[in-house]
Amino acid sequence: MITTVLPTYSRAPLSFVKGEGSWLVEADGRRFLDMGAGIAVNALGHANPALVQTLTDQAQNLWHVSNLYQIPQQQALADALVDKTFADTVFFTNSGTETAELAIKMARKYWYDKGTPRETILTFEGAFHGRSTAAIAAAGSEKMIKGFGPLMPGFKTLPWGNMAAFEAAMDDTVCAVMVEPVQGEGGIRPMPEEDLRAIRAACDRTGALLILDEVQCGMGRTGKLFAHEWAGIAPDIMMVAKGIGGGFPLGAVLATENAASGMVAGTHGSTYGGNPLGCAVGLKVTEIVSDPDFLADVSRKAGLLRQKLEGLVAAHPDTFDSVRGMGLMLGLKCKRPNTDLTAAARDAGLLVVPAADNVLRLLPALNIPDADIGEAVQRLDAAATAVEGK
Ligand SMILES: *Cc1c(COP(=O)(O)O)cnc(C)c1O
Repeated sequence: MITTVLPTYSRAPLSFVKGEGSWLVEADGRRFLDMGAGIAVNALGHANPALVQTLTDQAQNLWHVSNLYQIPQQQALADALVDKTFADTVFFTNSGTETAELAIKMARKYWYDKGTPRETILTFEGAFHGRSTAAIAAAGSEKMIKGFGPLMPGFKTLPWGNMAAFEAAMDDTVCAVMVEPVQGEGGIRPMPEEDLRAIRAACDRTGALLILDEVQCGMGRTGKLFAHEWAGIAPDIMMVAKGIGGGFPLGAVLATENAASGMVAGTHGSTYGGNPLGCAVGLKVTEIVSDPDFLADVSRKAGLLRQKLEGLVAAHPDTFDSVRGMGLMLGLKCKRPNTDLTAAARDAGLLVVPAADNVLRLLPALNIPDADIGEAVQRLDAAATAVEGK
């Protein structure tokens, strides 16, 4: 018999009843150190007091109004994001997938309005842009698309790390290039800075729009507010979600005035997108995370975690291959099944997230205390030892 909850996930037998900072408390009282942070969502930890206060204050006044009206919280968050990024304009969504939908529509409408329609959007193998029919078509992974056709046409998935294949595909028919500066689901794979710069240059040459998916790697995760800043480039359109709400469902599409020029009144909408609750929380998260001192501390913590992980790899050469990633978006490439290690970590009271390419993902809260970083690596060490003993 089918479960009352549609069985699309294989879930661990854990039910958390409370969160505090980097810790989650299970119904039976056990405490777990959360190095997944809801898959990079709880960017400021669980039940962050400043966010609880912001959400509660807003909840007492106004939860929802239609986008038929002005929404000052939405305006304030858009102003803040425009102030701190390349963007001139912002649309708010409730998830990352919805940002993919709008990014695709925006890019195609741009070319349609120019009178020279272009449809092809180049993406990269290992990409993840969400689970809508457009987003799975964009990623092009056999695992995600099987059985769901016919899919939205127009995507061309290129091999990862093969710039010759990219240059060969890049001609005057390409509408846009869509890329994660650091692949998350794909196994914590940063795109080399010189490749990002080459993609930007190719877009400039052909007119194609550059869409960056920073749903997982953005909002301070890599130690800059957005990951593309490391490469010294800017996109035309950027997808943001996960961390921006700190746990409240919120996403945003940021764009230049030029890229957004086709999106006039009536071309897109969302009932919940940009609601006062989400935007009030998002503004608080954005204010905290964009502070240069906060970002410097993310980089410092990242250095600490990375150094300890390198030590872990050295101590367990039969279990771990290497550390990769940027900032507090780190991956341990494993030599044993990452699912076995995830389970052993859980037994040691540590939550990590498997990713493709046999990688264990570490995406802690950006304000994780140093002591918790040490504790996490000790628990990983215990998990590795346990797996090796089997
Ligand atoms: C999670 C994710 C998405 C999809 O976001 P949802 O909120 O699950 O819809 C899109 N792109 C990337 C890079 C992601 O990590």
